[in-house]
Amino acid sequence: MTILHAESVSHSFSQKQVLSEIELKVDKGRTYTIIGPNGSGKSTLLHMIARQLKPDQGGVYLNGKDLYRLSPKKAAREIALLAQDNGTADLTVSQLVAYGRTPHKPMFGRIDEEDEMLIDEVMRRTKLGHLKDRNVAQLSGGERQRVWFALALAQQPIILFLDEPTTYLDIFHQLDVLEIVSELRANREVTVVMVLHDLNHAAAYSDEVVVLQNGRIYRQGPPEVVMDQQMFKDVFHVGADIYKNEQSNVVRFVIKPL
Ligand code: ADP
Ligand code: MG
Repeated sequence: MTILHAESVSHSFSQKQVLSEIELKVDKGRTYTIIGPNGSGKSTLLHMIARQLKPDQGGVYLNGKDLYRLSPKKAAREIALLAQDNGTADLTVSQLVAYGRTPHKPMFGRIDEEDEMLIDEVMRRTKLGHLKDRNVAQLSGGERQRVWFALALAQQPIILFLDEPTTYLDIFHQLDVLEIVSELRANREVTVVMVLHDLNHAAAYSDEVVVLQNGRIYRQGPPEVVMDQQMFKDVFHVGADIYKNEQSNVVRFVIKPL
């Protein structure tokens, strides 16, 4: 079932066309990864479908309704975005994560016991418990990235958008974030649309990949179908040895110069 539909969206920044007639359908409960070279429009597309950037042309529909006509609060109950560059805040970690509950509260509504439990659970899952009373401004870039990820999870969205969620993280915490995404994928409750740079991660953690090239969709589909030698050559200008695990159907790549 389609939950999100970007219908022929285009966008330009100061005369330069960055996205051209993108047609993207996202099914409920599946995990999608947008891949493509630097500057191909991945973040622009993600922001557009996450209600952060209105398309010049075309429309974005959530459950058939124009996403840009939803109230900000209603939208924040349905979608959460972890952006590439998040700022800081003069708050403790647990205070910032608690903001994720705001869209679910009436105006001036206070965090209740149920919210507290959910926040604790999110902090446990994201392994932030030991940082909970620390000021966000004093954390490392990677720690801060995980706090913003926790905030997005605390929002309990139906669609979670993640722009390069692993970029600032050491390998242990990269896998940690991806394992959480994997749990969401297994439960089929939350739809995830993310941007990843690591193509092996994209193949291992997605139901579908969306390949962007110069602001257009080059191809979209299951990783083992879409990520072939031609795609690596055309889009990334590299070669790849491709290995497939016949049991899990997961493909792996060793990237090499052409
Ligand atoms: P990606 O995430 O794939 O690296 P982006 O979507 O961030 O690419 O950017 C696509 C293109 O749009 C780039 O050429 C970038 O310079 C340009 N761009 C992105 N955001 C802006 C902006 N706010 N103003 C002007 N140009 C922008
Ligand atoms: Mg980007």
